Amino acid sequence: MPEGDTVHKLARVLDQGLRNQPLIRVELRGGVRPFAHATRIESVRAQGKHCLIAFDNGRTLRVHLGMHGAWHRYPQPWKNRGEVHVRLETEKEVFVCLQPKDVELLDAREMAKHPVLSGLGPDLLAAEEPDWDWVQRRAQQFCPPDRLLGEVLLDQRIAAGLGNVYKSELCLLGPLPEGKGNPFRPLAGTHPFSPISVCRPEQLRDLFWRGRRLLQLNLGGWPRTTTHDASRPLPGSQARVWLYARDGMQCLRCTATIQSRHQGLAARATFWCPQCQPMDTWKEFHSKKG
Ligand SMILES: [Zn+2]
Repeated sequence: MPEGDTVHKLARVLDQGLRNQPLIRVELRGGVRPFAHATRIESVRAQGKHCLIAFDNGRTLRVHLGMHGAWHRYPQPWKNRGEVHVRLETEKEVFVCLQPKDVELLDAREMAKHPVLSGLGPDLLAAEEPDWDWVQRRAQQFCPPDRLLGEVLLDQRIAAGLGNVYKSELCLLGPLPEGKGNPFRPLAGTHPFSPISVCRPEQLRDLFWRGRRLLQLNLGGWPRTTTHDASRPLPGSQARVWLYARDGMQCLRCTATIQSRHQGLAARATFWCPQCQPMDTWKEFHSKKG
């Protein structure tokens, strides 16, 4: 599933390709009601994992890609190769969206009162720094103490943008106090099935703070990386992630075998190291390999 960084990058590409370009064709399928006349797109932006496409007729198209959705971009002339859910055409290019989880067209009133959008926590990729006290309060508001940490990190009502990859990685990297240290270096690990009560309030805030830094550092053109700053040249072939999809392989810190299990109602794949990430407590890492 695309995470906040991917959706923000997609929104940027859509915005660059579509903003203020005269639209020659707009098609929406999959239960979306008929499209009122629009001549151009005013902006495309991301809010958490939602892509919001604002037309000049006051309507906004909300697209959530979910697990299987994707956007494709083609030069004109483009021949339709089958059913698409969204099709936005300019004279130069065609943008199509396939298999999204949600597509809906909203007027200004519906946007303001949207049950999902208005319930989102602060966007971890917003230009302005999120109100971290508010994030902390939302975690307390929405999560009983026995809620599992992996599920809490994915709860978009607390803060929007983290997905399944960052969820697993953050439980090994640990809380990083704001502005202190290397966001790619593990400081402390706990099991993603530990309850949220394993975190003191400031630790939870520092986990989300690290999440924001990692999302920001992955907005470039490289594949998502949680082990090093991919904007700089690296020696050799370094693994891009600590845990995600590495079950059965060696932990990059301690060489124990990485485990995996599904978590939550959505049965999301979850990865951890049994040595570095004890249940119900944090294991602090005092040296690079310790
Ligand atoms: Zn380990």
